[in-house]
Amino acid sequence: MEPWNVEICDVTLRDGEQTPGVSFTCEEKAAIATLLDRTGIEVIEAGFPAVSAYELECVRAVTALDLDARICCLARAKQEDVDAAIAAEVDMVSIFIATSELHVRLKYRRPRAEVLDNALRMVDYARDHGLAVRFAAEDASRTETAFLDEMYRRGAEHGADLVSFADTVGCLLPLEMYRVMTELVGASLVPVCAHCHNDLGCATANTLTAAEAGAFQLHTTVNGIGERAGNARLEEVLVALRLKGGVDRYDLTLLPELSALVARCSGIPVGKTHPVVGEHAFAHESGIHIAAMLKDPDTYEYVHPAMVGAERRFLLGKHTGRKALEHVVCSLGCQLDGRQISRVLELVKKRGEQKCSVTPDVLMSLIRRVREEG
Ligand SMILES: [Zn+2]
Repeated sequence: MEPWNVEICDVTLRDGEQTPGVSFTCEEKAAIATLLDRTGIEVIEAGFPAVSAYELECVRAVTALDLDARICCLARAKQEDVDAAIAAEVDMVSIFIATSELHVRLKYRRPRAEVLDNALRMVDYARDHGLAVRFAAEDASRTETAFLDEMYRRGAEHGADLVSFADTVGCLLPLEMYRVMTELVGASLVPVCAHCHNDLGCATANTLTAAEAGAFQLHTTVNGIGERAGNARLEEVLVALRLKGGVDRYDLTLLPELSALVARCSGIPVGKTHPVVGEHAFAHESGIHIAAMLKDPDTYEYVHPAMVGAERRFLLGKHTGRKALEHVVCSLGCQLDGRQISRVLELVKKRGEQKCSVTPDVLMSLIRRVREEG
């Protein structure tokens, strides 16, 4: 099978930073960008330089790193925004206009055709200043495809390198995404980007479905941070690209470090059951599962922890079985006879039922107690 023809544009430093209460310093942006680059991410959206002088400085701090990744930034279809992108010395500017009837009516108060004509002048302006251009439709998922086709065609004729489809309010389901993306990709003269939000919990699914329908540039954020329920999660998209799309060029072992860095800088912790990078993503407690996994981990693991720089952990608690306990006791360098194992198992389950965790230290104290009981 041919690997899927895709690239990633990670938007943690722009859309991720739009998470309520999140603001990155220039040093934090540089550190995150560096790690994204080491992971092999092709495009990094570093910010929205028209927002403030400090934001412009931060985007410039990222471009100054001279990474392998191309650096992109956001701009409204206004000359001052494109000028800020030029000043930030990015490789590519993402010029966006809202395209849905609702947005156009409330935000622009002028005909959509006029909004588009003006935006195309900004595409020309950015191209004239040597920038690559992504021409992006905000709220595209609530816009008729006929208008998007026209916008993308005219954008491409004006030299846009990519056109972008944003499910800004996260309203699509995967099959809806598949249908619309198939149509847009079929009609577009240049590669199409998919930018998905997670309001229905489908951001990752929609992003991968868009890729299967022919979208080329996939937008993600680390840990899925972003406005409201966030964006498609980089860690999930990369693992699915490896396992389903045959894309093996990203260094997935850096994901735990990247996730922890963004959690720290954003102040948004990662949930324990978060795929790939959550504390419990590779933790097992069920006795039935562990007994089978000791024979072959594939029985209860589709994603292998070593692939993503994580470790498999067997936790003890209410659901612990004898085989799992014997394995853990042995891995701690202890030896117990059959009767002692039964007694420790009884104590472990009781502790679990009392909602108390059984850490290795706790287990050692239980083992000591059982040995003293004789
Ligand atoms: Zn967004």
